[in-house]
Amino acid sequence: MGSSPWRNERLRQEMKACEGELRALRQQQQQAPCLACEHVQENGRLQERLAQLQREVEEARAKLSELDLEVQQKTNRLAEVELRLKDSLAEKAEEEERLSRRLRDSQETIASLKSQPQQIKYIIKTVEVESSKAKQALCESQSRNQYLQEQVGMQRQVLKEMEQQLQSSQKTAAQLRAQIMMYEAELERAHGQMLEEMQAMEDEKNRAIEEAFSRAQVEMKAVHENLAGVRTNLLTLQPALRTLTNDYNSLKRQVRDFPLLLQETLRSARLEIGQAIEEVNSTNRELLRKYRRELQLRKKCHNELVRLKGNIRVFGRVRPITKEDGEGAEATNAVTFDPDDDAVLHLMHKGKQVSFELDKVFPPQATQEDVFQEVQALVTSCIDGYNVCIFAYGQTGAGKTYTMEGTSANPGINQRALQLLFAEVRGKAADWDYGITVSVAEIYNEALRDLLGKEPQEKLEIKLCPDGSGQLYVPGLTEFRVQSVEDINKVFEFGHVNRATECTNLNEHSSRSHALLIVTVRGLDRSTGLRTTGKLNLVDLAGSERVGRSGAEGSRLREAQYINKSLSALGDVIYALRSRQGHVPFRNSKLTYLLQDSLSGDSKTLMMVQVSPAEKNSSETLCSLKFAERVRSVELGPVSRKAELASWPSQEQLEVTAPPGALPG
Ligand code: ADP
Ligand code: MG
Repeated sequence: MGSSPWRNERLRQEMKACEGELRALRQQQQQAPCLACEHVQENGRLQERLAQLQREVEEARAKLSELDLEVQQKTNRLAEVELRLKDSLAEKAEEEERLSRRLRDSQETIASLKSQPQQIKYIIKTVEVESSKAKQALCESQSRNQYLQEQVGMQRQVLKEMEQQLQSSQKTAAQLRAQIMMYEAELERAHGQMLEEMQAMEDEKNRAIEEAFSRAQVEMKAVHENLAGVRTNLLTLQPALRTLTNDYNSLKRQVRDFPLLLQETLRSARLEIGQAIEEVNSTNRELLRKYRRELQLRKKCHNELVRLKGNIRVFGRVRPITKEDGEGAEATNAVTFDPDDDAVLHLMHKGKQVSFELDKVFPPQATQEDVFQEVQALVTSCIDGYNVCIFAYGQTGAGKTYTMEGTSANPGINQRALQLLFAEVRGKAADWDYGITVSVAEIYNEALRDLLGKEPQEKLEIKLCPDGSGQLYVPGLTEFRVQSVEDINKVFEFGHVNRATECTNLNEHSSRSHALLIVTVRGLDRSTGLRTTGKLNLVDLAGSERVGRSGAEGSRLREAQYINKSLSALGDVIYALRSRQGHVPFRNSKLTYLLQDSLSGDSKTLMMVQVSPAEKNSSETLCSLKFAERVRSVELGPVSRKAELASWPSQEQLEVTAPPGALPG
């Protein structure tokens, strides 16, 4: 019991010593900080462990002092109980003593009385009485004695329990002591480890210093060597520097003199340039004069050419061979071109070569742009009040619709013409008000139908204008005002839909009817009040193939007859115009009658003859090219303006005028 506080005291002292050592170690470490941080980490970990151990020791200590207190209290109580037990035992012994003494006295009295019989009998009686009293007292004493013995037994029990408790407390204390010893051992080990690590760190530090030192020595040596090299270099550089300085000085002198020299040179150069410019100017003036003369000559020549050629142009366009032409001998190419003359083409027909000369021939590789390039002057002339007809002529499948309508990705003349008109009209908007309207019509079996009308199946009549001008008009023919490409597309789409709903097979139907796009351009010159009207008729003719021969019947035969009639009427009209006959049979077909005012007078006509290059089509190709040649030689009469204009901004002028800004003046 008494050894516990002493042990605690010893533990405390040891702990203090340990803490002292620890502090010293920390100081050491601060003075020589560790470079390798894994040691610092290890150190931290150890310190943490140490702190934890200290905390545990502290807790054990508190528990130990609690147990000490409890043992003290129990010892005090035990002493008390022992004291009380002693008192009880003494009391009991005293009582026994007293009772035995009284018993002895009573027996002596009885014996003395027995010797004195009379008196004694009385006394015996008394004694007997007294003896029963004594017996009672004895009995009481015995029961009390019993109680006290029980009490003593109980106290002994308590004592035993307390001793057991004391033993268990001592056991716990011993365990705690063992634990503390264990902790101390661990502390010792941690301390040892820390010392070892610090030693290792110290070694490493020394090693690093040594290495750095040796490296520095090597570098130093290298620097010394370099220095020696630089010194020798410096010695060799000095003469070079001297020559450089000389050069520099001479350059400086030159630079000082340079502005003067430059001024001198500039002055003479300016003089020379001025003279040269003067020479060029005079040459230019001379050239300009010559150019103007040439222009006038060219214009005169062009006008003469137009007069000679007439107002009818005939172009040929040969489409490429397509999949539909099939393969083999029939699909071979029967058409060839002259590399030096773009107006000539040759056709192989039945083993013989036949040559044709047109105004221009477009080979299969010609693009839609190429074709339109040749057509655009004609298109713009209707802004100036001319009537223009562009026909696509040829057998079915030769490319008429491709040339006129084209595809949505690669449009033909129709859409390009309208786009060009929009652009031209926009360019003249400063002085002119223009309105562009379109009508879409079809002639099928000699019946004229309005494809933009509400009732496309209705047949329309062609009438003379009641104003006595001799002009024709079609009452009820719908005219749409168009201002943009979107408008045109809408109109074309509407026309297609109407055409398609009117027939069972659009392809067949369209090859047997003439499709007309009539563009009217009306202009008003705001300053003079002059009005012009030009009409552009774009006609995709019915297929020119001779059907009658193949023995067609019924409606097919009727269609073929109508087509033959209208195409030959077109030929007759042109023939009559060419031969300047008094009577021109415009009325022989709906087509010629409708286009009467666009074919006669100062109108301009373009016949685009479409042909297939395939061998199997060669006889149709021959027919088409013969038609073309015949039409080409027709003269429509002198060109004149419908409206009197001071200038002549027509096709001819477009062709002869130099591009703006090419040559001023
Ligand atoms: P047509 O209207 O004379 O009956 P199409 O214009 O319908 O003939 O042409 C027949 C086929 O040949 C079409 O498939 C068309 O796309 C094609 N075609 C015609 N001309 C050309 C061309 N110059 N380039 C490419 N394909 C063409
Ligand atoms: Mg067609």
